[in-house]
Amino acid sequence: PVNRSPEMQEERLKLPILSEEQVIMEAVAEHPIVIICGETGSGKTTQVPQFLYEAGYSSDNSVIGVTEPRRVAAVAMSQRVAKEMNLSPRVVSYQIRYEGNVTEETRIKFMTDGVLLKEIQKDFLLLKYKVVIIDEAHERSVYTDILIGLLSRIVCLREKCSWPRVAMGPRSLVPQRHLPLKLLIMSATLRVEDFTQNQRLFTQPPPVIKVESRQFPVTVHFNKRTPLEDYSGECFRKVCKIHRMLPAGGILVFLTGQAEVHALCRRLRRAFPLTRHRPPEKDDQRDSVEETRRFKKSRARAKKAQAMTLPQISLDSYSVLPAGEGDEDREAEMDDEEEEALGSDLDLDLGDHGADGGEQPDASLPLHVLPLYSLLAPEKQAQVFQPPPEGTRLCVVATNVAETSLTIPGIKYVVDCGKVKKRHYDRVTGVSSFRVTWVSQASADQRAGRAGRTEPGHCYRLYSSAVFGDFEKYPPPEITRRPVEDLILQMKALNIEKVINFPFPTPPSVEALIAAEELLIALGALQAPPKTERVKQLQRSRLSCPITELGRTMATFPVAPRYAKMLALSRQHGCLPYTITIVAAMTVRELFEELDRPAASDEELARLKGKRARVAQMKRIWAGQGASLKLGDLMVLLGAVGACEYAGCSPQFCEANGLRYKAMMEIRRLRGQLTTAANTMCPEAGLFVDPKMQPPNEDQVTYLRQIVTAGLGDHLARKVQSEDLVDDKWKNAYKTPLLDDPVFIHPSSVLFKELPEFVVYQEIVETTKMYMKGVSTVDMQ
Ligand code: ADP
Ligand code: MG
Repeated sequence: PVNRSPEMQEERLKLPILSEEQVIMEAVAEHPIVIICGETGSGKTTQVPQFLYEAGYSSDNSVIGVTEPRRVAAVAMSQRVAKEMNLSPRVVSYQIRYEGNVTEETRIKFMTDGVLLKEIQKDFLLLKYKVVIIDEAHERSVYTDILIGLLSRIVCLREKCSWPRVAMGPRSLVPQRHLPLKLLIMSATLRVEDFTQNQRLFTQPPPVIKVESRQFPVTVHFNKRTPLEDYSGECFRKVCKIHRMLPAGGILVFLTGQAEVHALCRRLRRAFPLTRHRPPEKDDQRDSVEETRRFKKSRARAKKAQAMTLPQISLDSYSVLPAGEGDEDREAEMDDEEEEALGSDLDLDLGDHGADGGEQPDASLPLHVLPLYSLLAPEKQAQVFQPPPEGTRLCVVATNVAETSLTIPGIKYVVDCGKVKKRHYDRVTGVSSFRVTWVSQASADQRAGRAGRTEPGHCYRLYSSAVFGDFEKYPPPEITRRPVEDLILQMKALNIEKVINFPFPTPPSVEALIAAEELLIALGALQAPPKTERVKQLQRSRLSCPITELGRTMATFPVAPRYAKMLALSRQHGCLPYTITIVAAMTVRELFEELDRPAASDEELARLKGKRARVAQMKRIWAGQGASLKLGDLMVLLGAVGACEYAGCSPQFCEANGLRYKAMMEIRRLRGQLTTAANTMCPEAGLFVDPKMQPPNEDQVTYLRQIVTAGLGDHLARKVQSEDLVDDKWKNAYKTPLLDDPVFIHPSSVLFKELPEFVVYQEIVETTKMYMKGVSTVDMQ
């Protein structure tokens, strides 16, 4: 029996899902799998676990499991449900990547999908659960999709078979008990055909229960024009207007990332202070020229420490991961601010001063401004659910966690920048990065819907209706938008060998699967099929290779397997900080400003020319001589990042040296992330992101070249020898195993004039010719 407070009970009764309790529970009793669709705020996440608890689905010490794609929701929802049920967090608990409060007494457990995936690795039948709820299935995160595929099989296994519970001594088992597992899939949209119409996934289409929502009308206002860059500034102006001119009611602003959220919060607090006006902090920016000089000096010092013998990296030394221990890092996928691992407001909001149009702080109109994003401390997140102080208006500045995962009470106005930050996968490099793009129409409508929960509301879209018309209707499932080698590696780490047979809700293409498996075999992450089988059953065995120990280590890094291999090998000889930097820099494309663009005037032409010369000179300096030059463009990346960080990564330094400031910021975040990942696996390494990182010594450069070659081994090219020159078009050209046509070292490469015999490259880009970029020398012994 649950002992809820009368007020809580009253609040619950307002939720539309309460009237569906009986329908839902009957469906769950009769079917192994049930889908529940209902608008955000209808009560799915908070109420369904309570229904199940009251119906006894946590009896016999079993647990009701609920997965969330976002950490923020796992924490907040466990707290909310505990409060509603008047139960301790020991009973209604959560588990996310690095923390949790699960106990022996836990009966309802909220967790991120990555956590459940790891549990499946340890106990495939998930015997401690009688029911598992996959929440926010509409988000179609790759890990939600894989979980649904896995659970479809686990449900069958648990249904068909009976499992002996306790072995009571040799041969004498307790009477076999039937232990079915119930699966609930909850979605905020009605778009569930990928689950219901997919015979391979569910032979019997599961019943879909629709929860009617009580949504008040929301008036949508489009901007006449769409601001090109400064949507944060536009948000600021819109909130100011709403606050000054419109009746009471909370404001919810959608931005894309943590830094933006903080910048806007600061600006709004300055404009509408609650108490006193706080002066803005000063930025201290260092003199970049001086800093470069110092970096170069320290490099020269390091060069003195040279070794006599040719050093050799061990290709078998990669065990940074204690066996059996894994990461639960994958859950970070859906957390839109993870790239801000270094914390602090690094994105100096450049337009911050002056763009406010000289507005004076207005203390007569206090605004209660609160940030909301995934990595915000739970107690700060909880503030958004509290009523604002007397006489103030609530304004929550959020990332898209507020789109469907959390419902904030009392919101009447939504300000939507129309953008979202998403992991983007580059088809050429396979590298993932974060990009800000337009949302889909469905997401924009979800955001608008946040305004109509308690009374009619308004949504201000900071883009034109024409732009909205060009949005995608729905976001495509993540799994179809990206190369799958990392995913296959994760599945293999789960011991799913025949990935081709896996019941994906939406499968990736067979070509994508084969390409992924072949690359992983080449990298040593999967065991190659035996030679004899190779001929007979190539097709079949190709897609069922087991994972290797190296593969397991690689699976713990949140980067493409090529780069993961480099990282896995880099614990030797102190190379890890360098490899982390190189991998981070390779992951961000176009570190250097485009200087080959046509000039509008003679003046600009002269400026561009001057800058090109300057950048070429800097590249030569960063590449160095001798051994370090052999690392080629990757040495340039290392030198550029090193010098830039040494200089405090100021926009001025970037401008002077033709570096893209935004790219440098991205690299900084990625270094933070990868350093955290390496430390999680191997805490005694005690790595940190050192802004004053010393350049690698000559031995380390040699190791780094071997490491890079190990990762980019399938991107090998050989210079066409003069005796093989059949045609002039092959002059200075390279031959790669896969391409028939000649490829060339890109003129921007520091190895353009060196023309080493063997090189590895990061990518090939086709313009007037096929050019290799990110080139590094390989020594063939
Ligand atoms: P759904 O999962 O269908 O989107 P939820 O179960 O998350 O809906 O939310 C149901 C209601 O509970 C919402 O109206 C929301 O305002 C309220 N609610 C959820 N969490 C909290 C909280 N921490 N404090 C106050 N109200 C909350
Ligand atoms: Mg929910």
